[in-house]
Amino acid sequence: MAMSKDKKKSLSQLGEFGLIEQLTKDIKIKNSETIKGVGDDAAVLNFDGKNTLVSTDLLVEGVHFNLAYQPLKHLGYKSAVVNFSDIYAMNGFAKELVVGLAVSNRFPLEAIEEIYAGIKLACQIYDVDLVGGDTTSSMSGLVLSPTVLGSVEKGKTVYRDGAENNDLIVVTGDLGGAYMGLLILQRENEVFKVNPQHQPDLSPYSYVIERQLKPEARKDIPKLLRDLDVQPTSMIDISDGLSSEILHITKQSGVGAIIYENKIPVDPQTVLVAEEFKISEITAALNGGEDYELLFTIKQSDYDKIKGNPHFTVIGHITSDEGAYLVTNDNQKLELKAQGWNAL
Ligand code: ADP
Ligand code: MG
Repeated sequence: MAMSKDKKKSLSQLGEFGLIEQLTKDIKIKNSETIKGVGDDAAVLNFDGKNTLVSTDLLVEGVHFNLAYQPLKHLGYKSAVVNFSDIYAMNGFAKELVVGLAVSNRFPLEAIEEIYAGIKLACQIYDVDLVGGDTTSSMSGLVLSPTVLGSVEKGKTVYRDGAENNDLIVVTGDLGGAYMGLLILQRENEVFKVNPQHQPDLSPYSYVIERQLKPEARKDIPKLLRDLDVQPTSMIDISDGLSSEILHITKQSGVGAIIYENKIPVDPQTVLVAEEFKISEITAALNGGEDYELLFTIKQSDYDKIKGNPHFTVIGHITSDEGAYLVTNDNQKLELKAQGWNAL
């Protein structure tokens, strides 16, 4: 069968977001319960007046994780936590989890139990019930696919497309650490391959390694926002790097953004490791990904409610013209590009 030119485009040319767009652009919603389908951190469904949130992830050995340096328990923990993060990104509360699992027979039972110990620990800490899943064999390594369900009051749901001109851009926590942790782990893994006797002292890197291997999602933020009486105008979680996430918000909201290099929150250890690798910690924050902090916008009139709160940093504001820019410390205006994680 002849294929159109468009179809011949390779997947890597399309990119992850291009592929999703191609696959989903003709989907028409049939059920009135479906409030929001493809295009946000989670789908939003309305049954009996309350919004239910659903989000799924797929983690593949050798693509998303490397068992040479990723302990199985941490892997299980991380797979659940990053999934919960998409619910918090909708200003919701994670409630139930189902887990798809494909394993090759090179794994002993103990290994699978380790993964599950991590998943169960995450469910315990995040108050989520593990309610099902599916288990099968795999010819090409371990595959984990968690799906989380959450809930949110109808009027409190926050989407990616609600940012407006002059809104303030806020991030939680600090950024760039998870990527620096990955660079350390990859470096030590290379050394270990050459010299298995090598026993590295990783204590100076404990924070960034933990950010990579055992990240935490911001379960506390939806509650904190309610306590402070702040309703964000848009929100997303930072899984692919700050640049990519800002561009999701600006594109979907039809606005632009300006952020300031000297406002981007970075942990001192992230700065030290970045120096060691001779890269800028800001590059790690913008393009590194996997920090699982939240990025959101608020009305200027809500600024006093978050001012001085140690969980929040205002890094810039929304503009009416298109394009998202970083103002550097030497006052250059650079256009933000989505160089973050691209699955393809
Ligand atoms: P996130 O980074 O928050 O997990 P993604 O970039 O993975 O979000 O997905 C963006 C949107 O596209 C989401 O609404 C997601 O449900 C949807 N999506 C991703 N892959 C597919 C697919 N294969 N089929 C349908 N929808 C998809
Ligand atoms: Mg997300």
